[in-house]
Amino acid sequence: MIRHHPDNNLLVEYASGSLPWAMSLAVSAHLQLCPQCRRENEHLNHIGGGLLEGCEPQETTGDALDRLMQRIDAEPTAGGATGPERAPESPKSRSRNTRDDRDPALARLPRVIRKLIGDNRPLKWRRVSPSLKTTRLTTGQDRYEVAFQRICRGGKVVEHDHRGREVTLVLYGSFSDADGVYTPGDFLLREPGEVHQPIATQDQECLCLSVVEAPVHVKGPLGWLVNPLLSFRPA
Ligand SMILES: [Zn+2]
Repeated sequence: MIRHHPDNNLLVEYASGSLPWAMSLAVSAHLQLCPQCRRENEHLNHIGGGLLEGCEPQETTGDALDRLMQRIDAEPTAGGATGPERAPESPKSRSRNTRDDRDPALARLPRVIRKLIGDNRPLKWRRVSPSLKTTRLTTGQDRYEVAFQRICRGGKVVEHDHRGREVTLVLYGSFSDADGVYTPGDFLLREPGEVHQPIATQDQECLCLSVVEAPVHVKGPLGWLVNPLLSFRPA
């Protein structure tokens, strides 16, 4: 059962289209997993539609429509609802897909996440510690770093805090920290300065999507050694 949801401010920003794309990605994936927030989003869209109906139509000038259509074509798609058709896959990429699809952590993910994986094949996992592997994802924006974090079963991530906001969406397995246990679909927004130490549960590994706007900061005696090595590369 999902216990952690985006707050109302985030849902309003998402529905109005003013949320940065990387954050929208995490909200969109949560919506695909959470009927409660999907209903709330539909309600907000309904309100937004009602407000638009009350507006006087504005004259557009010149090539405004052409430019808008070009922007829509260029936008990364959220949920695959809009955007250009993808090119057919080569036999080589199809064989990689088959291997990914057999990976239990990557099978049956929200559609918007599967599309993101498709755009980032092959996934290159980097070992950060004995418990944690990560892979940065290219999303076509330059403000947030978007990545998958994969914690092995029972694995502990080093205690850390953040210099910016961090969204974590649990996709597979579960983890806990001092505040509780988080299961698939749970959406966590941490503000700068909040310290936490995720620990995956013992039954299976845990896969999360993370969206961060500043580098993590490792606490404790190893911090001085590790922090200069932690890069931050939105892409
Ligand atoms: Zn929700």
